Amino acid sequence: MSLEAARPTGRFYVGAVATSWRLMGSRGRELKLAIALRFLQAMCAGIPVVFLVWVLDHLRTGTLTPSHAWIATGVTVVAVAVQFAVWYASNRYAWISGYYAVGEARATTLNHIQRLPLGTIRSSSTGDVTATFSNDFETVERYVTEAVPALFGAIGLPLMVIAAMFVIDPALAASVALSLVAAGPVFFWINNQFKTLALVRADRMADSSGRMLEYVTGITVARAFNRTDDRMSRYGHAVRAIREINNRLVLRLLPLGIMGMCIVQLGVPVVIAFAAYQWFGGATDVSTVLIFLVLVLRVYGPIVALVDHFETLRLGDAALERIGRVMDLDEQYAPEKPSFEPQGHDVEFDQVTFGYDSTPVLMDVSLVAKAGTTTAIVGASGAGKSTMLNLISRFWDPTEGVVRIGGVDVRQLTHQQLFEHITVVFQDVYLFRATVRENIAFGRPHSTNEEIEAAARAAQAHEFIEALPLGYETLVGEGGANLSGGERQRISIARAVLKNSPVVLLDEPTSSLDALNDRTVRTALVALLHGKTVIVVAHRLPTIQSADQILVVDAGRIEQQGSHETLIREEGGLYHQLWLDRQRAFDWRIGAS
Ligand code: ADP
Repeated sequence: MSLEAARPTGRFYVGAVATSWRLMGSRGRELKLAIALRFLQAMCAGIPVVFLVWVLDHLRTGTLTPSHAWIATGVTVVAVAVQFAVWYASNRYAWISGYYAVGEARATTLNHIQRLPLGTIRSSSTGDVTATFSNDFETVERYVTEAVPALFGAIGLPLMVIAAMFVIDPALAASVALSLVAAGPVFFWINNQFKTLALVRADRMADSSGRMLEYVTGITVARAFNRTDDRMSRYGHAVRAIREINNRLVLRLLPLGIMGMCIVQLGVPVVIAFAAYQWFGGATDVSTVLIFLVLVLRVYGPIVALVDHFETLRLGDAALERIGRVMDLDEQYAPEKPSFEPQGHDVEFDQVTFGYDSTPVLMDVSLVAKAGTTTAIVGASGAGKSTMLNLISRFWDPTEGVVRIGGVDVRQLTHQQLFEHITVVFQDVYLFRATVRENIAFGRPHSTNEEIEAAARAAQAHEFIEALPLGYETLVGEGGANLSGGERQRISIARAVLKNSPVVLLDEPTSSLDALNDRTVRTALVALLHGKTVIVVAHRLPTIQSADQILVVDAGRIEQQGSHETLIREEGGLYHQLWLDRQRAFDWRIGAS
């Protein structure tokens, strides 16, 4: 099967209501039921009106008997009771299933985001994604639980009343129906005007969320460089942009809303004029005209009342379109079920070329890292070393060529297979806002306490964890703010030890730790890396020297390859030069301390 063919095709956003169903999957069924019930409730509200007309009609023709009055009363009582029962059921369904359905839609979207290539996620702004999950889904929640049922409810009663009108006087009833049909295109136009502005507004809200997040996360740097005013002014700019679009919305919406109501209400004088015309022409009688004048308000009333929900309907539509934009992003292909099992744990690059954008970062790279050996990647900053790790872990996929683990193209492995085979130890350690225990067990949440402690011991972390106020139950802040650099690193190594995958990708920390921390981190790494296929972006001399194979990368190509003993002999070679530079830096550090 071609990798391209498996990607979802077609646009996700296909109009507001259809997109809602698409997003909510099977949960949408209960919402449809809620809407159908709301429609039924509105029809029930029309039944007393129909029987009122029936009684009036008998009065008009002088044929009213007590049994007519009793029937009308009985039916009205039953209809009112049924109406309230159905209303209760409709609201219950709408509220309860609405929240479940939107919750499910959030999960569907999150699941989709998790399957996007990392490159796509990084290129969309964090604020935009955050706003989708907060503002947009909240708007959709109100849209499906309030506005859409109200829309269908508003249609039920007028339909019932018009049907009754047709029984009494088809010509007059047709004039009422026509006045509504004529208002349709105007409503459609107003709708489009408002939706365009609503979409701009939602985009600006997302931009301001992004600026706020940027401001909060970067506050330390902003303060250190005394640039808080500048950052704040960027946020201020975003807030002003929202105010501007809100003003524009109000200024545009107010006249348009009033115009919409006028158009609908214009039906009343039109019906009066037509009724008068019919009456003067002898085509109808006074009592029919009077009945129509009473009934016509029951037709236009619910439609005019819809104005209250108009804003939610349009904002909901814009929010759904924004969610559709996220859902339209192509997922990274990975098979659902395993069809190939890696044979061994060799890692191989076969003529790999890659660029984050149109600029190539790796060119025609081929290498084999044998199972159980350590491959050190060295080279100047920006040479493409971390990118090689990114391609093995499928944070990105190669533009050309293949990356294999155990002889299988990584793109043919399921997410689970890849996860089981690889552990990535990043240079910047990220600890979640959770206990130390949960942070260590992150890759294997069902580990026993003994397993977690054994991993912590191997990673030289057990002692300092025990000394924390609540030991393994101590909560570490987001980003691990209340632990030292070396401690954070050892927790992340414990996490990797516990996961125990056969391939370890390691971006060796460049930040210099104090001598004691440095030694403990190195001891921890020895425990982690023992017997594994290790590919390390190496900065420390001992790591480089002891590697089974060294790859010297320069401007996206492997320039030299071999062991330290072989490469160091090639005087004038890139490795020789790099080694001398590193040694000088090392000597300088030793001398300085
Ligand atoms: P190294 O690890 O050797 O320092 P990298 O692999 O991180 O180098 O980067 C190689 C090149 O790719 C650099 O020019 C860098 O600017 C670019 N690069 C790295 N990450 C990204 C990214 N996420 N988006 C765009 N360009 C990137």
